Amino acid sequence: MIGEEPVPPPPPQAAAPAPRIAPGSGGPATLGEPVARVALKPRRAQPFHFRHPWVFDGAVQRIEASGDFTTGSVADLITDSGEWVARGLLHTDANLKLRLYSWDPDRPLDRGLFAERIASAAHLRTRLFGAPSATDARRELFSEADGLSGLTVDRYGEYLAVQFTAGPLAAHAETVLDLLEAQFSPKGILIRTEKGMGEAEAIHLNDGVVRGEAPPEGFAVEENGLQWGVDLAVGQKTGLFLDQRDNRRAAADLIAAATPGAKVLDLFCYTGGFGLTALARGGAASVRGVDSSESALALAVMNAARHGSADACTWTAGKAFQVLDELKASGERFDAIVCDPPKMTRTRKSVENALRGYHQLNSSCLELLNPGGVLVTCCCSGLISREKFGQMLAGVAARVGRPLRILENRGAAPDHPTAPQIPESEYLKCLLCVAD
Ligand code: SAH
Repeated sequence: MIGEEPVPPPPPQAAAPAPRIAPGSGGPATLGEPVARVALKPRRAQPFHFRHPWVFDGAVQRIEASGDFTTGSVADLITDSGEWVARGLLHTDANLKLRLYSWDPDRPLDRGLFAERIASAAHLRTRLFGAPSATDARRELFSEADGLSGLTVDRYGEYLAVQFTAGPLAAHAETVLDLLEAQFSPKGILIRTEKGMGEAEAIHLNDGVVRGEAPPEGFAVEENGLQWGVDLAVGQKTGLFLDQRDNRRAAADLIAAATPGAKVLDLFCYTGGFGLTALARGGAASVRGVDSSESALALAVMNAARHGSADACTWTAGKAFQVLDELKASGERFDAIVCDPPKMTRTRKSVENALRGYHQLNSSCLELLNPGGVLVTCCCSGLISREKFGQMLAGVAARVGRPLRILENRGAAPDHPTAPQIPESEYLKCLLCVAD
C-alpha cells in the first residue's frame, strides 16, 4: 500500500497556524514556484497518493504560506507530518481548495506542464481518429482523465469550444488559450461556461469568441456520416453531446436489427441525435422527438431536412414527464424508446431523489413500449454509479412486469476517457435493452 505513514496524533486545532488567505491581494496568480503548502488532516492522504486530484476543504488542516496567494496560485500538498504528496493550484474561496496536477516534486507546475498535457491529449485523439478534417467534431481534451482537471476542449471542425470548470485554471485562461492556439491553430476559440459550475467555482470569464472568428451562419459538423447543425454560442454543453456519438450509432443499429421499421420515441432529443441517426441507418420508420428546448428543436428540424428525413419526424416541445403522461393516456405505443435526460443530481445529498426520477421516467418508457421493443436508457449523473443505475432498472422492470434484457452496457465515446482513480469521471451510462 502506498502512502499511509504512521500518523502522529493531530495537533490541537488552536495550535494550527491560521490559514493565510488573501484572495486577490497578491495580484494575478503566477505559475511556477509554489507559494504555499496545504497540509492535510491526519489519515487523509491516501486518495491523493493514488492521484485523485480534488482536495476538498474538509481534508485540509492548514495552509502555510510565506507571502500572499490567490485563486490560481501554485501550492504543494503535504501530509500532516510534512511529507510531500503532490502539487496543484489553490482556490481561495471554493469548497474544492486545491486541484492537483503533478505528482513529481521536481516538475514545476508551469506553462510547460500545461503544454505537455494538451499535446498528449491531442496526440491521443490523432492516434485514435486520425488528423481532424474541417467537419470532424471530437473532444480533444477531457479534464481529469487527460491530466488537466477543470478544462474541456471540444473541436467542431476548425473551431474550438473551451469550457473551464475550475476557478484556479480559469485564473490562467490566457495562458491556456495561447497554448491551445499553438497546438491546434483553430480558426476561432469560443468559451462556454456552465452556469452552475461557474457559480460553484467563481469563474468570471466572458463567454463567446475569445480568439479568431466565430463559425459562419449555418455551421455544421459531421457525425456517423451525417451533417449536424451546431450553434456554438447558445447550444447546450459546448454545442453537441459528443459523448453519445458511438451510442447513437449502436442504438440505431440495434433498432434496425431488433425492430426494423420502428416507430421511435426520442425523449430529451436535443437536436435529434438518436432519432435521426436511427432513421438514417434504416431501422426507424418514424421518430417522435421530445425536448423542452425550442432552440434545440429548431436545429432538429433543420437536421431532419438536411438528412431528407423531415416527413418522418414529429417534434414536440414540452416537459418529458408531462408528455409521457399524455402519451400514456392517448394509448400511443412505440417500438423503440430512447431516454437521455440531463444530469439529475450534482450533490450526494440528492442522489436518492434523482434515482426516484430515473425510476419514474423509465417506468413510463416501459409502459409505452410494445412487446419486444428496444429501450435505450441513459444516465449522465457521475454520482450515480453503473451499479446503482442497474438496480434502479431492475426495480422498474419488476414494477412494470416487463423483464429487461440488457444487450450492451455502454459508456462515453473514447475521446471522453475516464480515470480509474476518479470513479466520478465515469459519468455516462447508456444501456441498450430489449423489453419482453
Ligand atoms: N439525446 C440528445 C442529448 C440530450 S441532453 C443527443 O443525442 O444529442 C438532454 C436534453 O434534455 C437537452 O436537450 C435539454 O434541453 C432537455 N431537457 C432538459 N429538461 C427537460 C425536460 N424536463 N423535459 C424535456 N426535455 C428536457
